[in-house]
Amino acid sequence: MGIPHIGCPCEVCHSASAFNKRTRSAGLFTIQGKTLLLDVGPDFRMQALRHQITHLDGVLITHTHSDHIAGIDDLRVFYFVEHKKLPCLLSRETLQDIQLRYPYLFRPMPSDGKGIAAQLEFQVLEHDHGNAVFQGVQFSYFSYFQSGMKVTGFRYGNFAYVSDIREYDEKVFDHLKGVHTLVLSALRHHPTPMHFSLDEAIAFSRRANAKMTYLTHIAHDLDHEKTTALLPSDIRMSYDGLEIEI
Ligand SMILES: [Zn+2]
Ligand SMILES: [Zn+2]
Repeated sequence: MGIPHIGCPCEVCHSASAFNKRTRSAGLFTIQGKTLLLDVGPDFRMQALRHQITHLDGVLITHTHSDHIAGIDDLRVFYFVEHKKLPCLLSRETLQDIQLRYPYLFRPMPSDGKGIAAQLEFQVLEHDHGNAVFQGVQFSYFSYFQSGMKVTGFRYGNFAYVSDIREYDEKVFDHLKGVHTLVLSALRHHPTPMHFSLDEAIAFSRRANAKMTYLTHIAHDLDHEKTTALLPSDIRMSYDGLEIEI
């Protein structure tokens, strides 16, 4: 929902700590001179302004729930500035769902006879797991599910981003073998039908044998400092603007 929630009277939503102001989860890779966005939620515009994201070489998309995709329209600015299509890396299912959710993106516009999708370029991951070279950068990817929706996890070297995981095959741990740094979603203390609880995320991190885990996608139930105090030292709460060297 983003923290603060609209109209919420809770302590975390009213906290003065900058660590308790959370936009929707996303990431930005700087790898081999390329700048690659990971997910483009409804806060994308503000995130881009705040973190001076003035250029993108591509966008990796995990799945199509609104909190990960609702900023897709704002990607147009990069086309306006650079006059070239912005490549997006995503599963077949994710692309099909974008076509359903945003049909206007694919319709020709009267002004130039092109659709907005003519400003984006889609590189489709045809399998449930595998390797992909995206903008010259070698990623591996794997799939899991959240409430029946397929979600893509991405790995670069010994870094992996696994958000919005609820149902998964044990094979996911094969894809995470040797991971040092894991970004993993955890919503609140209690499990929900869509997300791991803190304890479930800790257990998952242990099974993946990650050296450092950063929790993301954190709800307003969790105060940054109080929750950090409960966590083992190799599991940290992430926050807006967190930078990790990989
Ligand atoms: Zn609240
Ligand atoms: Zn989400």
